[in-house]
Amino acid sequence: MIDFRGLTKTFPKDGRALTALDDVTFSVQPGDFVALLGPSGSGKSTLLEHLNGLQIPTSGRGMVLGVEPALANRAELIALRRRIGFVFQRFHLVGSRSVLENVCTGALGRLRGPRLGLVTYPRRVREQALDCLERVGLADRAFQRADTLSGGEQQRVAIARALLQRPRLLLADEPVASLDPESAAQVMTLLKGLARTERLTVICSLHQVDLALSWAERVVGLRSGRVVLDERTAGLTREEMMAFYSDDA
Ligand code: ADP
Ligand code: MG
Repeated sequence: MIDFRGLTKTFPKDGRALTALDDVTFSVQPGDFVALLGPSGSGKSTLLEHLNGLQIPTSGRGMVLGVEPALANRAELIALRRRIGFVFQRFHLVGSRSVLENVCTGALGRLRGPRLGLVTYPRRVREQALDCLERVGLADRAFQRADTLSGGEQQRVAIARALLQRPRLLLADEPVASLDPESAAQVMTLLKGLARTERLTVICSLHQVDLALSWAERVVGLRSGRVVLDERTAGLTREEMMAFYSDDA
């Protein structure tokens, strides 16, 4: 599903090269639920961007869903991104539009032309969107304005929008970083459930040890762009995780 070998990414900064990812090697199997754990600036977002071909490595190789983004043409990259759902820290919903219409935008990649208004989407898409809302437990909110929902609910709408793409891989970049603990737990429960019951592969970046330990099956720890930990959470103690984490000032 995902296989990265010695992946390195540098960005030019002040006339020198800043290493954002340093010799990253890891692989992910279908149905895995992986937490990407690391402090701010450790390379989590850059790694997720390599997973959907938004960034191309400086050296090393990366395969995602059978495609190597560095060697893919534009059409192959577009096709790859359609099979990958992406969820952001700030949900990026259109607040003035209905919940259902926001979910429908997940189908824009396979529809022609721009859409404004729920009825401009084919009925089939609207039905699929409602089904996705059902899967995140928010079907009863379909016709409310998106900005009337709580932060946690808006994040679940963003997940429903990603599900409408029928992704094989779901990438979530700090999806609970701006949520209260209870909403965060609901969103993590949802992501874990999708991995478990729908065999969706989920990679979720986090910066809190406790969240990773409570929710993920496997944790990949990043520090200064290097993988410093790659373990099943079942065999890890909180102390072991903190030890990797706390040297970071
Ligand atoms: P995280 O998501 O863990 O906070 P990032 O992946 O955003 O970390 O960043 C890792 C490092 O790469 C940081 O030092 C950041 O400043 C740098 N970086 C990320 N993206 C870019 C970019 N497009 N141009 C230059 N530097 C970048
Ligand atoms: Mg980030």
